[in-house]
Amino acid sequence: MHVTMVKKQLASGAACDKCIMAEGLLRDRGLWERIDRVVWAVEGQPDSEGMRLGQRFGVANAPFFVVRDRAGDESIVESTLHLMRALGPHGDSHARDSKAPSLSAPSAPIVSKQELDAVAPKLAASQPLDVVRYMLERFGRECAIAWSGAEDVVLIDMAARSGFEYSVFCLDTGRLHPETYRLIDKVRKHYGIEVELMAPETQALQAFVRKKGLFSFYEDGHQECCAVRKVEPLKRALSGYRAWLTGQRKDQSPATRGEVPVVQEDATFIGKLGTQAPLIKSNPLANWSSARVWSYIREHGVPYNELHERGFVSIGCEPCTRATLPGQHEREGRWWWEEATKKECGLHSAAPEPPVLQPALERDL
Ligand code: SF4
Repeated sequence: MHVTMVKKQLASGAACDKCIMAEGLLRDRGLWERIDRVVWAVEGQPDSEGMRLGQRFGVANAPFFVVRDRAGDESIVESTLHLMRALGPHGDSHARDSKAPSLSAPSAPIVSKQELDAVAPKLAASQPLDVVRYMLERFGRECAIAWSGAEDVVLIDMAARSGFEYSVFCLDTGRLHPETYRLIDKVRKHYGIEVELMAPETQALQAFVRKKGLFSFYEDGHQECCAVRKVEPLKRALSGYRAWLTGQRKDQSPATRGEVPVVQEDATFIGKLGTQAPLIKSNPLANWSSARVWSYIREHGVPYNELHERGFVSIGCEPCTRATLPGQHEREGRWWWEEATKKECGLHSAAPEPPVLQPALERDL
């Protein structure tokens, strides 16, 4: 099999972003050596070799690949992922670009720091759907959407539209509203997906409740309860993935989320590859406002929590969430008895270890 890769050269002389990503994927998988030739489709130069190949095969966008088999027959592959399958150990030398609705990303391509540094500014300027597509093409099922709010269902909708495989988990703290549980079931059916419910570790929860009761957060803050009911289950969930998507937005909380990036190495949690490779965290909606999220929900018929129709904006656990009044910021409905700078539960920042891991509580077991 002979493979010619056609890359696009912009008028500025630089390669297009997608071509850089495609080359990165091929190199990560050790498949770059299988590309026999690279030609350029130069923007504004219809006579460049890549442009002529595009015209000949009716392909409008690079990168694409011209694959010639032993018999000399040529076929076109427009997806880097499909080419990688064809070049893999069980590859089909007569590769054709299928439009299969659900695609698996290759397992274990490691994202180098260099790639992340190159891609981060581009993703920061991209539309959320393109960010979701990039992440899922890169990681597939090894990328999980951590679902807790309306924004996360928007991400599920985008993931479903991308055609790539993906995973979804939800932190079932045991204190969610009945409306939230109903929504989880509705979303499962609407998108035909599995939603993995991550429950708190039983012994830790029992020890915590025995010692502190069911409402200690009103007296000494929510961190301890969140550590048991949210942070430890999240840590456990993320240890099975290489990347995760969250619905965080900068304008959710000027005090704590004003600098949320679109993509980053997760500095708090460790993923499936342990210290071999960082867990990648992406917040595709970082630059969207609440109004933009809700316009997407309406436009695409995305299921949402019925509590939103009763004045709830940001919805968490039942005892720690209340409706907000017109003009109040959405986070004012969460842990309303605490200062604005403390309104994070440790899911998106360095958090204390769950108390069960601490000797004092272990003795109480
Ligand atoms: S939000 Fe409230 S009930 Fe839920 S885990 Fe945190 S402190 Fe506990």
